[in-house]
Amino acid sequence: MIKFLELDVINQQYRSELIEACAKVIDSGWYIAGQELKAFEEEFTDYCGSKHCIGVANGLDALILTLRAWKELGKLEEGDEVIVPANTYIASILAITENRLKAVLVEPNPQTYNICPDSIRSAITDKTKVIVAVHLYGRLAPMPEIMSIAKEYDLLVLEDSAQAHGAHIDGKKAGNWGHASGFSFYPGKNLGALGDAGAITTNDDSLANTVRALGNYGSHKKYENIYQGLNSRLDEMQAAILRVKLRHLSLETARRQEIAIRYAQSIDNPLILQPIAKGASISELQSHVFHLYVVRCGERDVLQEYLAKAGIQTLIHYPIPPHKQQAYKTWNDDSYPATEKIHSEALSLPISPVMSDMDVKNVIDACNSFRL
Ligand SMILES: *Cc1c(COP(=O)(O)O)cnc(C)c1O
Repeated sequence: MIKFLELDVINQQYRSELIEACAKVIDSGWYIAGQELKAFEEEFTDYCGSKHCIGVANGLDALILTLRAWKELGKLEEGDEVIVPANTYIASILAITENRLKAVLVEPNPQTYNICPDSIRSAITDKTKVIVAVHLYGRLAPMPEIMSIAKEYDLLVLEDSAQAHGAHIDGKKAGNWGHASGFSFYPGKNLGALGDAGAITTNDDSLANTVRALGNYGSHKKYENIYQGLNSRLDEMQAAILRVKLRHLSLETARRQEIAIRYAQSIDNPLILQPIAKGASISELQSHVFHLYVVRCGERDVLQEYLAKAGIQTLIHYPIPPHKQQAYKTWNDDSYPATEKIHSEALSLPISPVMSDMDVKNVIDACNSFRL
């Protein structure tokens, strides 16, 4: 059986380093806001190329706290409009509605699955204040175009980089394009902790200060509270684990890209639509970090069943679009045809950095022999 993602096998590669890192934390007697967090924040800042990194409890909190900080700084108020792709994981949208801001959903480009600059332009109104740019599946949203729209209309840009650690355009990485960026280190993400964790990156000093306080009861100084904050912190144990995992991230990313390049070059079946154009250059492929390798098929469920019979586990990201969820009942009758089509056709092939070349070949052969 070729598993979709083997987290146990991935983490076993670093077992002794991880145990050593955890032992150091246990023995230190200091478990929240200590040296490990400080070191991880510096190392992740270096990795992304941004000025600040603030560790928080998870990726959703990273997005929530950033929008909340912009409210505290007077840049946003309740009811302001936030443009966000309809085709995203629901967390991108929950962060907006949690702050009582109005989410304005826009359609993606069906080739890249990411938000489309033309649809952003047509969604802008007098109340628009923010664009949330989600780097879905590990490929950057079209950031040069998004940043120029933001400049033209004086909008803030929040990157949702939860799936895109290290993805870049012309060498400039996720987390360093917008006014702020939220990362998740959920175990299955490209940089995964052994529990929940997240971070915000930004080049803006006052935003960095504000989110740091908001995640710590609204306080910079113990027992002095400036904001009605919350408790959202990246603890020392997860920070120590992430420092180990970050050292190996580039190699894991390179392996994901190697697998993706083989899929892109060798899966050749008119029933299966590739996420990458056939003639894509190696450098284009290497700007994408392939959190997921999502193909499309009109008969997606039949393909999934066929691959399962061939011993290949696949997953669907995601089966129900946010606007069709019960959580957003008032949107259920709205129509986003490109988003709905992607949701009905998407299938994620295994792209685990610990897959063998033989596993990769078996996935390719099974895809190529699929017939209706
Ligand atoms: C995983 C994810 C999040 C949320 O991260 P958590 O750490 O699970 O809270 C947000 N946005 C996207 C696109 C994600 O994939």
